[in-house]
Amino acid sequence: MDSTDRFAFLLPVMMMIFGCTFLVVARFGSREAIFWSMGFLCAAAGFAVPMALFPLPVVIQALTADALFLAAFHGYSSALLVRFGRPPSFRLRTLFCAIAYGGLAYAVIVLQSLPAELMISDIACSALLIFAIGACLHSATQLIDRILLGVASLIVVETIVRNVVMLAIFTPQGGIDSFAGSPYAFVMQAGASVIALLFALSALGATTLDTVAQYRDAAERDSLTSLLNRRGFEDAARRLRVRGALHGAVLVCDIDNFKRINDTLGHAAGDSVIAGLAQLLQSRLPHGAFAARFGGEEFVVFLPGATLVEGGKFANAVRLAFSAADRQEIGGAGKITASFGVALVTPSDASLSEKIGRADAALYAAKEAGRNRVMLEGSPAVEAPAIHMASVSKP
Ligand code: GH3
Ligand code: MG
Ligand code: MG
Repeated sequence: MDSTDRFAFLLPVMMMIFGCTFLVVARFGSREAIFWSMGFLCAAAGFAVPMALFPLPVVIQALTADALFLAAFHGYSSALLVRFGRPPSFRLRTLFCAIAYGGLAYAVIVLQSLPAELMISDIACSALLIFAIGACLHSATQLIDRILLGVASLIVVETIVRNVVMLAIFTPQGGIDSFAGSPYAFVMQAGASVIALLFALSALGATTLDTVAQYRDAAERDSLTSLLNRRGFEDAARRLRVRGALHGAVLVCDIDNFKRINDTLGHAAGDSVIAGLAQLLQSRLPHGAFAARFGGEEFVVFLPGATLVEGGKFANAVRLAFSAADRQEIGGAGKITASFGVALVTPSDASLSEKIGRADAALYAAKEAGRNRVMLEGSPAVEAPAIHMASVSKP
């Protein structure tokens, strides 16, 4: 067994391990991983054909391996298109594979030409990848996505270089046989194996990172409102603190007399009021701000860079919009209001939770003062100016 054969043995094993690993990732809900799995398992089977089907005629071996490699690249291109949310063009790519397979069958059965077969197979597989890379290029914003497309492009480049070298150098000197036995073929095969490994690793890295991010996001979000939960809020604040950017206004908001809403209209109606306020908050958040549901009908908002007065204005605008909301969908409950407390966070503050406590104390003062108002932190807490004053004159 020469060194080239040893590589031939390693590749199917490696591809099969990746194919199975992607199957496991697919169980965590990644649709893309199903296509990666199909791609790597087909490639594993394709590489294993000479070992697994050696008693069968070479024509059968060649046609089986060709079909498996086409299926593998169909899988890779599907995975890339699905990953980047591009139209999968499934039928178009399948039709292309069918035509390419016709060409391969012609090369194997009629021409009985190994160089023609290898070249058609390489061109078809590269074309499938080029199609997907081209469709996805503009959507690759994250580093891991760029690495993935970069490695996919390397596969294409390696294929082109290999074919050009074979055509230009080796064919005049005695065809495929002189190429296959050359040290150059060994280096090319080693290089192709490394690129295949990099491709599998970057695809696995990309899908795994996505899956982890998906689960982390779910752990940091509230299911009723899709806002952050307390843990998500604390994480977002921690990220700001690390960047030295944790300064601004923090708002605490609580729906007024909510128990009564639950009691008179039912829990489901209560839920829809909570979700409505969450939507209102989310839709009005300025760039970089974040809102969380801390529990029940209580929300906390952080407005980076905002002053206390700006925080008060934001809260008042939300308060007015919330109290003016049409409640027809829950049977016209009349006016539902919320109260707000606002505190200022500066970079020198040791603890954000202490600041949330101060905003909470202002909220308590708002409840004490009659609800449906915004109070700013202070001793005593003071009512936010302007917008609230205009609203009290409303019927
Ligand atoms: P206040 O104006 O003083 O805030 O009065 P309140 O009635 O709103 O009092 P409080 O804030 O303590 O009421 C919280 C209520 O919210 C109690 C609980 O039954 C209800 N609640 C908590 N979580 C949920 C939820 O997820 N859905 C619904 N529908 N109700 C909830
Ligand atoms: Mg309440
Ligand atoms: Mg409450």
